Formats: sequence, C-alpha cells, structure tokens
Amino acid sequence: MTTSSDLDPLNGIPVDSSSSKQKAESAPIPQWFDASPYTHQVAADIVRYGPIARTTLAQILKLSQGALSRITGDLLHLGVIEELPDARLAQDAGRLPFGFSQKQSESSEKRGRPLTALRINKDERSFIGINVRGNSALAVAVNALCEPLGEPHTLAFTYQSPEELAVSLAKVVAECVKDAKRAALPEPSLLGLSLGGHIVDNATVTAAPFLHWNGNANLAELLTQRCGIPTLVFNDLESALRHECWFGVGVGVSRFALITIGAGIGYSIAQDGEPLSGSETSYGTATHIIVDPEGPRCYQGHIGCADSLTNDSIAEQYSEMMSKTCSFEDFVTDARKGLRQATQLLNRTCFRLGVLIATIANAAMPQKVLIGGESSFLAEMSMESLRKGVETYRHSQAAPVPIEILDDTWINWGRSAASSAIERYILG
Ligand SMILES: [Zn+2]
Repeated sequence: MTTSSDLDPLNGIPVDSSSSKQKAESAPIPQWFDASPYTHQVAADIVRYGPIARTTLAQILKLSQGALSRITGDLLHLGVIEELPDARLAQDAGRLPFGFSQKQSESSEKRGRPLTALRINKDERSFIGINVRGNSALAVAVNALCEPLGEPHTLAFTYQSPEELAVSLAKVVAECVKDAKRAALPEPSLLGLSLGGHIVDNATVTAAPFLHWNGNANLAELLTQRCGIPTLVFNDLESALRHECWFGVGVGVSRFALITIGAGIGYSIAQDGEPLSGSETSYGTATHIIVDPEGPRCYQGHIGCADSLTNDSIAEQYSEMMSKTCSFEDFVTDARKGLRQATQLLNRTCFRLGVLIATIANAAMPQKVLIGGESSFLAEMSMESLRKGVETYRHSQAAPVPIEILDDTWINWGRSAASSAIERYILG
C-alpha cells in the first residue's frame, strides 16, 4: 500500500537514496481502511467470529440491526468483507463469546431477509510473519485470516548486528512475497516480526539477550528500509496471545492465560480479546513463582521456583539424578522410554507446572489456561501429575480449570507475528 516504488521487495536490495529512507522512517503504519472506531471493531469481530450472521454480530456488539447494517454496508463497499449466500457455513457456537449462538440468530434471520453470513475478504490482502528465536528465523506469508500461503522459509545465522540481520531477513521476506504472488494475492501490506525480548513502540528492540546486541535497535525501521514493506516488531509471547485471541482457541473466551515452558517461562493474560499484561510480558514475571518448597535452587537463590520448569534446569536436575552430565534431550529420550529416574523427574515437573497453573488460576481467575512453548509436550506426557498439582493448590469447591495444550509448531509462532500485524492493520 505504502510500498515505496523505489524499493524492490522481490530481492530486498537496499536503495541508497536518502529520500526513500526518509519515507520509510516517517511512513505511518498502513491501515486497511479509514473509518469510525465502530467500523474497525465490526471488521475485527467479523475476522474473529466469521462467517457470522448479522443478527448475531449485532447482539455481540450491542448495536441495533440498523446501525450494524449501515456499518457492514460500508465494509462491503470497501471490499473488506464479503457476503456468503449460506449461513450454514457459519462456524460452530464454540467460537462465539459465551452465551451467543449462531443457531438462534439463524432462525430469527430466516423470518426476515435471506440467510447470509459475513466473512472477511481474506484474499484481498496478504501479510508476512517472522519469528526470530535463538540464531534462526522463520518467515511465512499469510492471507487476512492468517492462513499460510505457502511453506514457511527458515534461516540460520551466527551473530549478526541489527543491520546484518535485516539484510538476511530480506531474503526470506522476498520468498514470502513470491508466495503471495503465486497465490494470486496482492503484495504484503504489512510485516510483523516477533522475538523474545522487550520492544518499545512496536519498533525498537531494547532488550533481547539471545541476540547479544549492544543498546537499542530500531529493527522495524531497518526491515522497512530493506524490504520495502512497513514492519512492526512484537514480543513473541504477546503475539502468541494475540493470535489465540484472533484466530485460535482464545476466540470468544473472555479471559484466558497463556503459560509457556521451554528455554524460559512465559506468562501472559488476555481479557476480552486483548492482552492485559502489556510490556510486563517480556520480563518473564512468572519465572520465580514458588512451585515446590523442596525444589531445586535457581540462579537467583530461590528454592523451588518456576525456573525449575526450564529446559536448562531440567537438564541440571536430571544430571544430578543420574550422576553424569545429561542434556534436556537425554532426559526427554529417557522419559519416552519410561526410564525410572526420567519418569520421576517428568512427573515432578508436571506436578510443579500444575502448581503454577493453580497459582495463576487462583490469582487471575481465567476461564481457560493454555500451555504453550517448545517443551509444552511434557505436559501431555504426564497429565495426571499435572492435574494433581492443580488440585493440591485449588479450593475443592472452585470450578475446575480447563487446560489446553497448544500445538507448538514453529510456523504457528510465525503466524502469530503476522496476526499482530493483521490486528494493527484492521484496528489501527
Ligand atoms: Zn527463582
């Protein structure tokens, strides 16, 4: 949309002209359309709940049928949404907010106008999502419903300065642009990049320990310049949470928590489709919550905090049990084989994770707790211990905590970065 004509998004070759740089720096983040906040909200809800009947949408948004029809009329005119001839395409009621059902509105709609459902015009726009973790990156092109337009593209790198990383990433971005073209979609409107770090103004990385950068880096500006596509940078956990709010299992859930386990411990919470935790997310606020008074000591001196759920700590605990140096992978292999010590540590780890879930559920009262992160598969290996951990710290009369273990594939982290870009593109 605002792609400078003097930048080549296909090969990412930088254009050495100060005027184009100035354009990139001052370019506002493009939006799909410019309209009232209500219109943006209606479009966002059609993304989340579509295909959806007008009557249901009006109920969710507490708008009169007349007001909603005027707004959806504008969105149809703008080409942002499309009308499907058959509301049977509507998704099941599970994806709607609590208390709403497509079936009721379908029958009431039947009495008046013909049965139709609204959906976002998903192939009218394309986006790119990039996730950077460790010394590698994954990029994927998606449509406006965050559905991949091709296979993801990965990149491995050794230490790179922010400028060098932007040059490397331009190559995978160019591949994504080709994917969008092959799928007959327009050039990507916006690029979202996510990483495990602290980011200011969706642009500047102020802390990302794994990249070993000195000082702040405006990665959004560097990528915008290199790739010719407006870019926003997000914290990866925040993006994952947003993805669940818009396209995943958090759609229609008023409050849910996401806990990630792996190299670190992540915790974030969403309320009414919005992450609540803000910039705090990047600091790993759940890392030192006590989960086992007899657990191992962490690097900060706590005994039995949630740091004991990290891969490094598990490797250390397992090495101690086995009286030899073992890696996290050794532990997983042995646990899968059912070796006694590995099973013991697995059960203990899942019990501790259950305690963490209970602590968070007791304090934040979410309707659902999602478990993600690269080691989330451990939870599935010992659900019984996890449930015991939850029950031990949960009041017997309190409602059970629905727990969902996410499919932690890398492409989903790439899609998450794109989700955040889509959200900004639609909501502004
Ligand atoms: Zn600690």
